[in-house]
Amino acid sequence: MLLLLLIALSLWAALFLPPVIYYAWMLKKKKKGLCIQPDANYQPTVSMIVCTYNEAKVIERKLENIQELDYPENKLQIILVDSASTDGTLERVKVFLARTNFRFPIVLISEKERLGKSHALNVGLKQVNGEIIATSDADSFWDQDALLKAVSYFADPSVGAVTGKEKILNVEKNVHTMGEGFYRTFFYTLRSGESCIHSTIFFQGELALYRRNAFKEFEDRPGYSDDHGTVINLVSNGYRCIFVPEAVFHDTAPFSLGGRLMLKSRRSEHLISGVFLTLKLKIKRKLPLPWQVIFFNLYFHVISPFLLIAVILMTGIVYAIDFRTLWFFGFLLIPLLIKKPRVIGVSYLTSNLALIMGLYPILTRKRSGAWRKVEEMR
Ligand code: GDP
Ligand code: MN
Repeated sequence: MLLLLLIALSLWAALFLPPVIYYAWMLKKKKKGLCIQPDANYQPTVSMIVCTYNEAKVIERKLENIQELDYPENKLQIILVDSASTDGTLERVKVFLARTNFRFPIVLISEKERLGKSHALNVGLKQVNGEIIATSDADSFWDQDALLKAVSYFADPSVGAVTGKEKILNVEKNVHTMGEGFYRTFFYTLRSGESCIHSTIFFQGELALYRRNAFKEFEDRPGYSDDHGTVINLVSNGYRCIFVPEAVFHDTAPFSLGGRLMLKSRRSEHLISGVFLTLKLKIKRKLPLPWQVIFFNLYFHVISPFLLIAVILMTGIVYAIDFRTLWFFGFLLIPLLIKKPRVIGVSYLTSNLALIMGLYPILTRKRSGAWRKVEEMR
């Protein structure tokens, strides 16, 4: 019994110590700073590609948001690539452009067939004339100064890509949106620390900018995403890819368990593929990131979900054998009576469940291409 108890306790330690260690390490790195000086006066030409698939509900709001961006008219080009939307997205765009005096030059592209977001981005890439390529989603809205803040880092020639910080519009709605808010806060400290060391591969396509001459095309292999997939290529070519918290965008988080799992399991698939790719490149000595960063991200995205299952099973077994161990583990449930730990607990459990769901298509090689939209986010 004592042995079982010891195993259970070591499993608990294996589950909680690595995140604490990595978080503390990244926090320390973050405090040291980026060692990249942004130049507030740096204003390169930018081409922003917005891909749409059935975004009639939000596209006008998105265009209004772009109009309000603080950037010179002659330095920002917009490219909208629609892939055979059936809800009249393009018609709405045309009506909007006809009645407004849109500040920036805009190119509309209509694909006949839907072949996924990365494919659409690559179609858009053929039309760009900017030194910097920005990507954004139809359902994400940038702060007025987000673009200026983000491009200011490209003044440093070692920077290949920049991503920004998400603020969740409906964060107060319920336990799931609050949980996502918590996840982001934790996650962004890690991303800041990694950016200080060299680069983070965890990019968000909702606000991502890339140096045009640092890459050929967006990653479009099934299972990879346009953001992490592309960024890993840039990092392996020696460019720094950094998270910049001053560049803020806003979007909506799913508020139902189903919506959350659908979104997070798809993103998990992309994350895990990315983490495996970093491992492969590191073994081939093609990635200028330290081993510890690769290991901890492998831990978070692949090892930890299974460890969590082992912990739950082992605790159950110990508990079933000797009821008195309730004293040992019962205290862990007490914090769940308080709101904040409950939010963190639910976020932790659902994130890990989504990671296991995301691993499934990778193991069975049924990788996803074009994805289903989470309707409640519009
Ligand atoms: P999420 O934020 O990860 O849930 O991803 P979204 O469902 O919001 O998709 C990101 C962006 O890509 C949105 O603007 C979508 O309309 C767009 N998108 C998704 N799939 C396709 C596609 O096959 N073609 C095009 N052109 N856009 C797409
Ligand atoms: Mn989105």
